[in-house]
Amino acid sequence: MAGECIFCKIAAGEVPAEKIYEDDSLIAFLDISPISPGHTLIIPKRHYSRLDECPEEVIGDLASKLGLIAGAVAQAGDYAGYNIFCNTGRAAGQVVDHVHFHIVGRHPGDKVFDRWPSGRYEEGRMEEMAGKIRKTLSGP
Ligand code: AMP
Ligand code: ZN
Repeated sequence: MAGECIFCKIAAGEVPAEKIYEDDSLIAFLDISPISPGHTLIIPKRHYSRLDECPEEVIGDLASKLGLIAGAVAQAGDYAGYNIFCNTGRAAGQVVDHVHFHIVGRHPGDKVFDRWPSGRYEEGRMEEMAGKIRKTLSGP
């Protein structure tokens, strides 16, 4: 619920945060429990729980600033790279139900994340999945 949402409260200025960027539609601030120094969260000011519930223009506003903010995080922390990710749903580790992107600066060999396990499709399964996704994207 938006009324109890910690990120809505940060966006409204009711809860303090270390803000690094703000405009009409979004705000970026430092994660309180950083994976690496400068770990940043970028959120829309309006409350949406999931990325797939956000209007396209809201995602567009967020996406348009990712490069700018990630570049600044990388420069400030002298990082060689960064990860950007959006946990969506409990299964994916989402804890705060207000859509947000993480920006995490990376140094070579920092072992912050291990490479994820990669699988293989059984015969025909890749085409089947692609067909299902295409069908969903093409609408009802
Ligand atoms: P997740 O929902 O798992 O993608 O991550 C939520 C993130 O929000 C976590 O990394 C928390 O450390 C961070 N977080 C939660 N409360 C605050 C807060 N008040 N200020 C800054 N970051 C927060
Ligand atoms: Zn919210």
